[in-house]
Amino acid sequence: MVRHGAFAYTWDLVGDPSAAARFADLGIDTVTLQAAYHSVRATTAWHPAHRIVHANHAAAYFRIRPERWRGLRPLAPNWAVDDGDRFGTASAALTAVGLRTEAWVVLTHSSVLGRSAPQYAVINAYDEVMSYALCPAQAAVRDYALTTVQEICEQYDVPALMLEACGWLGFEHASQHEKTAGADLSACARDLLSLCVCPACAERLGLDVLQLKADLRRIVDRELQEGVRAGTSLAEALGSERAEAIYRHRREVISGLVREAASLAGDRDLLLMATDDPQVTGPDVGVELAGFEPAPAAYVLKCWDDEEPAIARMKAAAARTEVPLVANVNAVGEHSSELPALAARLVAAGASEVRYYHAGLASPARQAAIRAAVQEVT
Ligand SMILES: [Zn+2]
Repeated sequence: MVRHGAFAYTWDLVGDPSAAARFADLGIDTVTLQAAYHSVRATTAWHPAHRIVHANHAAAYFRIRPERWRGLRPLAPNWAVDDGDRFGTASAALTAVGLRTEAWVVLTHSSVLGRSAPQYAVINAYDEVMSYALCPAQAAVRDYALTTVQEICEQYDVPALMLEACGWLGFEHASQHEKTAGADLSACARDLLSLCVCPACAERLGLDVLQLKADLRRIVDRELQEGVRAGTSLAEALGSERAEAIYRHRREVISGLVREAASLAGDRDLLLMATDDPQVTGPDVGVELAGFEPAPAAYVLKCWDDEEPAIARMKAAAARTEVPLVANVNAVGEHSSELPALAARLVAAGASEVRYYHAGLASPARQAAIRAAVQEVT
């Protein structure tokens, strides 16, 4: 039996008494509900009180107990329908119609915290602060992330938490006014620009960081200014010894974070949004799926690009790990009418669950495509 779920924002539900039933009508049994989330502008087609919600900073949608936080503290939302416990209110509405709620938790992506505490943000080889990205090698960031997990687990009876940005965000930042595409940076150059050399990373990398930064700047500048490609991998660009040191550092930090989160979560499932490549930074954390410790309850693999590469990645992941795989599919992208066929192929390729993005954002036609996929893939 394939489990089908859909992502949703709390404001899709809070203040709309018919929203939970509308989601249940999709045929899904689970809603992956916003608990901690970055800034966003979102449509809400059916809500009695609003049509466009502008969440203009990252926020916690669970009840914030001020005494529980040290150092970095999450902010409360001040948009949409006010409620001191939006996650609790929304999950109660879902429970009332028989839907299971997972907490959707974004850990290291917060521009508002990165701007207020730039000493904890990712720093690139040019000493530029990437304020939207908190560095998980920093003790204060780890503490913030784990307190987030703990507060959700202590306050809500949810069976699972889906962890997004459980590692480093890098150069990529899909902000509304991004103007970087014209530089034609290769994937490798973007990965080089994503390397964090903040004091915490510099200390743990075990490398000559001044030399590393100089080499990173030289390689990236050569591509930016002369069009000479940076290479295809960190190993090719920086040498295999340094690439291995970077991967080891990332693995230790990410494993440590997942291990501590799992211990706080107890018998709740941790679903880890991941990419099977330690060179990758971003919301889907880059790890080697084969042998990653501790194994989460499931890996959530993003299948938002073209169908063939997504199927190939799912097959490859299924061959590399025994951990269950969840396909994260995009119902708000270009080919939503093909969702049923895509979901069927992803399940045949090894996914045991599907999550549709996104119950609140999808138009009637896209909701129909989700409903059809749920009905056809069992
Ligand atoms: Zn760092």
